Amino acid sequence: MDARELRELELLAVTRLYGYALGGRRSTVEGSEASTATTAHALPSTIHPVSSMNWGELRSAVASCTACGLCKQRKQAVFGAGAESGPWLFIGEGPGAEEDEQGEPFVGQAGKLLDAMMAALGIKRGRDAYIANVVKCRPPGNRTPTPEEAGACAPFLDRQIELISPKVIVALGKTAAARLLQTEASLGSLRGRVHRYRGTPLVVTYHPAYLLRTLPDKAKAWEDLLLARRTLRSIEQGAA
Ligand code: URA
Repeated sequence: MDARELRELELLAVTRLYGYALGGRRSTVEGSEASTATTAHALPSTIHPVSSMNWGELRSAVASCTACGLCKQRKQAVFGAGAESGPWLFIGEGPGAEEDEQGEPFVGQAGKLLDAMMAALGIKRGRDAYIANVVKCRPPGNRTPTPEEAGACAPFLDRQIELISPKVIVALGKTAAARLLQTEASLGSLRGRVHRYRGTPLVVTYHPAYLLRTLPDKAKAWEDLLLARRTLRSIEQGAA
């Protein structure tokens, strides 16, 4: 089984996580030498693919993940936080210094702006919204995560979305939009309409860190959030 097949089965991260390398060898874990020949087919039955993990399993898998190089410099992985079955899901790019320190997403200046924007909509994190990131470990110097890093973390985010089953997703910035919509299109061209991620309505808006630097675009972000709220309301009314 090669890397592509494992990725399709969402097993690549798990095999790396538990020290099972491709090619039937057990990989070096914390300096120990390669040992028993074990293939991905022979994973212990207690190890599920990420796509069938429950919250606890997913949280542990993220905390000890070594699927990409970002694990090397993290203080801790930032799993995500909030209402695990809330209607709103906000997805950012990746933890910054304060998030890496505290283990919570969006706790720095950008997080304060995000909280204020949510409050203006009557949303409270923890009560109505879950907040997650494309990558769970801080990219050094807060650089943009590479597509490979985003891809290595993708099974975790996909499973979070599946478990939350939100009514509406807000992609904060280009990295989240690119990852969820599998597009290289500009953020400007993706705003203003409702997309779908695996059937769930998704609205794209500016990342709060960008808005802190570019105040005039706050008004556009507000329009995006109103679009997301209208979308949610129409779903709720349709379901009522
Ligand atoms: N920026 C993000 O994209 N995510 C965070 O958690 C914090 C800042």
